[in-house]
Amino acid sequence: MSRDGRSRTRTYAAGALALLAFATACGDNGDGGGAAPAATKTTAAASPPSGGAAPTAAATTPGAAPAEGDAAAWAKWNLKPLAPAPAPPADKPIKLERTGTVPVISDVKTSDKVVFITIDDGAEKDPKFVEMLTDLKVPITMFLTKDIVKNDYGYFKPLQALGNHIQNHTVTHPVMSKLPADKQKAEICDDQAALTQQYGTAPLLFRPPFGDGANTPMLNTSVQQCGPRAIVLWRESMQIHDMQYQAADKKLKPGDIILAHFRGPKELKGATMTQMFADLLARIQEQGFSVARLDDYIQAPAS
Ligand SMILES: [Zn+2]
Repeated sequence: MSRDGRSRTRTYAAGALALLAFATACGDNGDGGGAAPAATKTTAAASPPSGGAAPTAAATTPGAAPAEGDAAAWAKWNLKPLAPAPAPPADKPIKLERTGTVPVISDVKTSDKVVFITIDDGAEKDPKFVEMLTDLKVPITMFLTKDIVKNDYGYFKPLQALGNHIQNHTVTHPVMSKLPADKQKAEICDDQAALTQQYGTAPLLFRPPFGDGANTPMLNTSVQQCGPRAIVLWRESMQIHDMQYQAADKKLKPGDIILAHFRGPKELKGATMTQMFADLLARIQEQGFSVARLDDYIQAPAS
């Protein structure tokens, strides 16, 4: 994928035909949003559960959420259980400081065969995805954009209750390098305030839309002024059925951070959020990885 911020800027501007595009075409993929691979294959893993096809072999208490690794819970979503993540490292590979320049990270240094899933923006609010994560308990990190989630902050609360943290992704999803410092600061600080108020905890991480400006001193300063203590990018970007890889060998590496989005059929060529996520898990599983919680590899600053 392109890591060229100017390219992203140009394609995004060209694609922003209407305000509608704001909520639906805010891809961070650097491919202009409309250039997702036109994959038409469907996989078994992509079939949503049908209402009447609940597995009968479940050994869990009726009504209780199945435990992680519970084959019946995974079978409900036409998936095989993902290998559980190893115990979190006692010595965190990433240690954040309370002040000063914030690090920019795209992966985590670890030999554990784990990857981290991040899901951005917040446009699609599919109740089935909440059901899926409640069943599977796959850890995610959410980077939410105020103007995209403010019509339904509540949607993300059950996802948060599963232990998934909510992080900062600006108020309006702009191209940050095009903004002066005061506007950058408003974008980050106002999202920080809204998310802190809504979800009761201040975001520790920030992701600039499109990854734009991540390595500029101005954006680093703006982030520092608003509270987040790291800028988080990614190594792979989930599309509809497969990932775009930055690495030439198109393989996951231990500690990679994967970008996905809250997207629905309009953005996914008819596929649903849960179908996209099932395919993401299948791609991770077939490469022999499990999914770990990003927070378990990051040491927060001493308060
Ligand atoms: Zn985004």
